[in-house]
Parts: sequence; structure tokens; C-alpha cells
Amino acid sequence: MIKLVIPLTAGNSEYKYADIKKPTSGVLADTREIAQQGLGFQCIKHFLGGCTTAFYTDVQEERPKPVEVNPTDEDPVEKKTEETPKEKEPPKKIGVGIIDDPKNIRLMVGDLPYQTAEQLAIEIVNQISPENDGIEGLYQCPRCNNQLLCAEDIERDIDTRDFLRTMKRICRPDEEDNFINMTLSESVEIRTDDARNELEEEFKSFRLRYPTLNDCIKAEELVGRKNTGKLQHSIYKQALVSVNGQPVDRKWKGIYGDMFFRTIKDPMDLVKLSKKLDKYGIERDREKRCPKCEKVWKAQVDITGFFYTALEERSSGKAGNFHLGSGYSRQSS
Ligand SMILES: [Zn+2]
Repeated sequence: MIKLVIPLTAGNSEYKYADIKKPTSGVLADTREIAQQGLGFQCIKHFLGGCTTAFYTDVQEERPKPVEVNPTDEDPVEKKTEETPKEKEPPKKIGVGIIDDPKNIRLMVGDLPYQTAEQLAIEIVNQISPENDGIEGLYQCPRCNNQLLCAEDIERDIDTRDFLRTMKRICRPDEEDNFINMTLSESVEIRTDDARNELEEEFKSFRLRYPTLNDCIKAEELVGRKNTGKLQHSIYKQALVSVNGQPVDRKWKGIYGDMFFRTIKDPMDLVKLSKKLDKYGIERDREKRCPKCEKVWKAQVDITGFFYTALEERSSGKAGNFHLGSGYSRQSS
């Protein structure tokens, strides 16, 4: 069972845990096909729909079963030594408030906050061969621009990759809600689009919910992926809940939505917003040291890249080494 970094909100419930399974070869092949069409968010949704088996609102500790005492059992001393390690095990946790109907799950995965969707996708792909969780990276020193390659060097027996198993999963604390409140350092002014140039609207604050996978898919459909800034604004627009404390509807978003984010004057406001959105998830900051000038800085490990690489490598055997049947092991179901 996996604790979700940000819970999924559906109806009046928050789902905080999920069960996952390994992808079937069919799910892998279809996900790969969608990825090759460049539909990154659709691809994650399809993948999660095929590999998530349950959502739970919470967990509780399983009550220990009473130990059956059987007097005819052989040597009690030997038995006791056998049971000692068991007693040390933490109590098993079981999920409550379960949803495990595949149809419902396929509908619900779209409502996962993006950070959670990414977390699940990575945990699922990593299950296929958990020992291969090294993530290569090429990092640029911010001081001298020297490039630092973190990779596996088999010949010299050196491995400087980062490993998924060492990366923290940072979860939103229960007392926080699913909203992000922002006060703009300079208000956004919307003026009439004519010679009068009159002030029509002035916005000082806004509120977003964590953008969901469906928000991302909608934005991807509307503006494509080429212009990442535009895509980002469009995602924020989908997730926008209120401005100046007033709820906004689809009509408002249609008129002002794109303009609102494009008109934010202080770029630091959007930097702050993206930091708030990135607070929870798989922690990807890693300290790197430049071998040339000794500068130490925090670089971001490309875990999204890890997902796509793993998808590629694990769906048809090794890339570039394809022959019929190479991707299918006899054990897999
Ligand atoms: Zn350097």
C-alpha cells in the first residue's frame, strides 16, 4: 500500500492510500503508444488506470489474531524461538473506505493531484525491476558551466547515479487542505480593450486547488506542449478556484483565465506559486559538487525522464535489441 503524497478528493471523501500492481504487457504497450504521440498526461492516466487496484480513505492497524495454543504441539522451547521475530513486526495495516472497482478507478485516476499521479506512475514502473532504480543525469555547474555526468561506469566500477529508493516521498500533512492561497505582490489590472483603457477588474489574490491529472490533460488539449509557459498557465487556469475571495466559474475563466496569469507583473509571484505546488511529491533535489570549481549546488533529478526511460526499456526488452518475443517473459501474466 502506498501513501499518496497529496490525497485524492472525490465527492466528500479524501483518499490517502492506494494499491498498485505491475502493468500487463498490454497496458505497457498502449501506454507507450500514447507516449509516442506526445500526449504525456494522457499516457500517465492510461497507465494508472491499468495499474491501480484500490484507493483507501485511511488505514487502521489489523487486530492481532489470538494465538492458538495447541498442547499437542512438539517442543515448546523451539516454537518460542521461532515466534520471537514475529512479535517484533509492526502491526499490519489494512485499508478502510476502499474503492476497488476497476471502472471507478479508471474514472478516479484523472482526479489525482498531478504530483500524486507522477508518484504512483513512478512507483508502478519501478516495481517491474526495483533493482534498476538508478537515475542518470547531466548537470550543469551554475558557476562555471562545467557539465557533470552522473552515470554508471561499469569498466571503472563507479556509479554516481541517484537512486529512487533513497529519495524521500514528502506527503502533505493531514491538517493542510487541498488549496493554495496566493497574494500578489502587485495586483493584476484588466483594462478595457479600447481607447478608454479603463480599469475593468483588479485582482489582488487568488486560490488554486492542486492541479489534477485531468487539469493537465485539458490544458494539453487546449494549448499543446510546445510552449511550456503557456501550458503552465493553462493548467493553473483549470485549477483556479477563486480570485479576490470570489469563486470563479467556467464563464469567468473563459474571459479572464488566460489573461489573468499572463498579466501577473512580478515573475517572482509565479515562482512562489510553483514552489508551493512542488512542495509535496518525490523529493528530487540532490546536492552536486562541481569537480572543476568545487561549487556545491542543489540540482533536480529528472524523475519524469526516469518514468519514460523505464517505460521504454521495460516494455520491449532492451531498446534497440528487439526481436519477436524479447519483451515477454514466461513468468509474466
Ligand atoms: Zn563549476
